[in-house]
Amino acid sequence: MNTKQIIEEAESNLIHTYNRYQIVLDKGDGVRLYDTDGKEYLDFGSGIAVFALGYNNKEYNDALKAQIDKLIHTSNYFYNEPAAKAAKALTSASGMDRVFFTNSGTEAVEGAIKLAKKYAYLKDGSTDHEIIAMEHSFHGRSMGALAVTGNKHYQEAFGPMIPGIRFAQFNNLASVKELVNDKTCAIIFETIQGEGGVYPAKKEFIEGVRKLCDEKGILLILDEIQCGMGRSGSMFAFQQYGVKPDIVTSAKALGCGVPIGAFMATEQVAKALVPGDHGTTYGGNPLACAAAVEVFRLFDKLNVTDNVKNVGKYLETQLKSLVEKYDIVKAQRGMGLIQGIELTVNPKDVIAKCLDNGLILFSAGTNVIRFVPPLVITRDDVDQMMVRLKKALDEVSQNV
Ligand SMILES: *Cc1c(COP(=O)(O)O)cnc(C)c1O
Repeated sequence: MNTKQIIEEAESNLIHTYNRYQIVLDKGDGVRLYDTDGKEYLDFGSGIAVFALGYNNKEYNDALKAQIDKLIHTSNYFYNEPAAKAAKALTSASGMDRVFFTNSGTEAVEGAIKLAKKYAYLKDGSTDHEIIAMEHSFHGRSMGALAVTGNKHYQEAFGPMIPGIRFAQFNNLASVKELVNDKTCAIIFETIQGEGGVYPAKKEFIEGVRKLCDEKGILLILDEIQCGMGRSGSMFAFQQYGVKPDIVTSAKALGCGVPIGAFMATEQVAKALVPGDHGTTYGGNPLACAAAVEVFRLFDKLNVTDNVKNVGKYLETQLKSLVEKYDIVKAQRGMGLIQGIELTVNPKDVIAKCLDNGLILFSAGTNVIRFVPPLVITRDDVDQMMVRLKKALDEVSQNV
């Protein structure tokens, strides 16, 4: 099929839940993607913060192929070696004690919510516990994850949401304190808000919420689906704050392309779930777990977090310079290789121009361009990205 035929076939058969760019991606290599017409794109989106190792990494591909030839699925009624190894890698990397594997980030959030509810139920026997979430957060699209997602637009048509969810302002400890009551069983937020516009948590906020949780016997759930797995410059972003959550969620870069997510918890919390409480058919299957095992091995081998700290600093400096240079660039925010620039114009206009120039970027919130490149990028890749981005910003600036 040619490009036009593929787009027509997709448009006439898929449910129209996305306004897609008129581009058909065909293959990838390193930090570059190629469309069906052979055009090259520098990828600073990684398929939404997923492809941390870059495309077509031979060792990663070989590990997957080997597992495909061995065993792809078993069900959770049996053990398999990749799941055992992936669980060990995750507990070591996060400092948490136990892991439950899912197929997506959304399911990891669902599991985290269920775990928090069960833990609270075992403590007081009541079944009307509440959760505090944050405005402008994003935790997924299923009914539980959507209920804690602080975006009215995503929720409106799908009500009623699960009850007992209250929204505080991110980075505003007083607004959280106001909502706490005897029924509060958990507080959930992203250590760095991604979809909401790239807002890192303030240190005082995380520390304050942790203290509040300890005083009131509330669980702290950190959603690190986007900012975890090395993206912030440490394996998990909370590690840079010196604060430990009770439950953490992971996904996106965990499998670097193969769908896998996880929620992790401390021993004390994790033991609230017993056989029969929660389950999944695919979660923890050998193929997905083999991907995660290989991701951890390659992160180690390639010193990925060191690269993120180094190149992330450089990217941050480059993006900061845009605030000086362009009237339409208002601010820069981020940590490591999750960065954003806030614009005074619609980011979609800049992103469309970037695509013309061979650069893939995603927006976040209503006025932010997000930079979530593969974690193996070099300073040279950043320089090339800046050339393409500046060209787009020049063009859009001229039309303002
Ligand atoms: C992407 C994302 C999710 C949802 O993950 P899916 O794999 O799309 O289900 C949840 N939380 C955060 C912070 C995310 O960035």
